[in-house]
Amino acid sequence: MEDLCPPLCHELWNVIYPYVFALQNGGNLDCGNIKVKSFDAVCPDGARVSIHGEVIESETSDSMSGGKAMYCENCCILFAENRCPVCGNKKVRIPEPDDYCFLTEKEMIWAGMLEDVLKQNGIPFFTKQMLGAGLALKIGPMSERCRFYVPYSHFQEADELVEALFAPVQEEGKETDPEE
Ligand SMILES: [Zn+2]
Repeated sequence: MEDLCPPLCHELWNVIYPYVFALQNGGNLDCGNIKVKSFDAVCPDGARVSIHGEVIESETSDSMSGGKAMYCENCCILFAENRCPVCGNKKVRIPEPDDYCFLTEKEMIWAGMLEDVLKQNGIPFFTKQMLGAGLALKIGPMSERCRFYVPYSHFQEADELVEALFAPVQEEGKETDPEE
């Protein structure tokens, strides 16, 4: 939050700075009936610009107890509610650093690529194939899907890798990242 990458117009900054300051001071914002460390704002100048701000949780255990994410042991997923949206389990808890969390589900052709990237970045993970071997043979390997689980301590990092890998290409390749 220290430096804002895209240039912001003065009016928009006026709208969002109370949110930014609240978040920087460790506060939560109301979003429906849950508290989140994020906000959405629209530029008053004809609403041509909208902004979504969110606190990126760092990997220290301090910030992980901020209460943003809850974890269901049955389903190994992260979510914001107080009960699991998949199985309805109410005994959810704040994730521990080595809890394996559902990251993403990919077709087998992409799963290999993602595995390589996770390995290259030193992120531990395990995978679950979603079809039995017999069924996969009938339908063909292309339709078999693979679920990835990573420890909560690496979840943010892994999530960013997935996004970078599978995000739709927006730029026409004219920008090259100097980092790595
Ligand atoms: Zn569950």
